[in-house]
Amino acid sequence: MKPFQIIAFDADDTLWHSEDGFHAGERRFVELVSPYAADGIDVKAALTGVERKNLSILGYGVKAFGLSAVEAALTITEGRVPTSVIADILDIIYRQLTAPVRLLPHVPEVLAQVGDHYRMVLITKGDLIHQTHKVETSGLAHHFTDVEIVLEKEPSAYDRIFGKYGVPASEVCMVGNSVRSDILPVMALGGTAVHIPYPLLWELEHVDHDEHFAELASITELPAWLGIA
Ligand SMILES: [Mg+2]
Repeated sequence: MKPFQIIAFDADDTLWHSEDGFHAGERRFVELVSPYAADGIDVKAALTGVERKNLSILGYGVKAFGLSAVEAALTITEGRVPTSVIADILDIIYRQLTAPVRLLPHVPEVLAQVGDHYRMVLITKGDLIHQTHKVETSGLAHHFTDVEIVLEKEPSAYDRIFGKYGVPASEVCMVGNSVRSDILPVMALGGTAVHIPYPLLWELEHVDHDEHFAELASITELPAWLGIA
């Protein structure tokens, strides 16, 4: 059994599906807005550009996506977008905000198994209301001693959290789907990280790196990797 004090888990696309909802929303946005777009505009790329521009103002999550989508619809079409399309975009956002949590396969069993041996915490970023709602309705909250919702998953945020627990980063293992947000910042503090990729990754989560870390095909491989299977 590996000697960690804490196993920390990311939530979106690690414990439950998230990015597939955003991809579906983006596809629908392109369908809705393209008929009114100015000639030669790559609608999808323009939307991502607005999201990137707004990241420091709006942060992460569905509401940020929604505001950027409305802004992008107006700018891409130079104001020609009909209000019915804006209403459709709002509908996409509200559906996404109220959609039931869809757990990834075998997550409850794996958390129960890991929880028999380790203290577990959840560290996620994004919108406070939506993330809290997902945690509370996921049926998983009881596995975690602490749930942390941060604005940005940067080393200072992890450092603050681990410091609050009084646990050195070297005794923490972070499990997540994003190299940029879950893996590199924890490794920068001297912690261990396990990458479990999700089939889809948001453009703004892409990162170039030459670090080496454990990568598992599925969360079901985690207990064996920890030496508790
Ligand atoms: Mg994630």
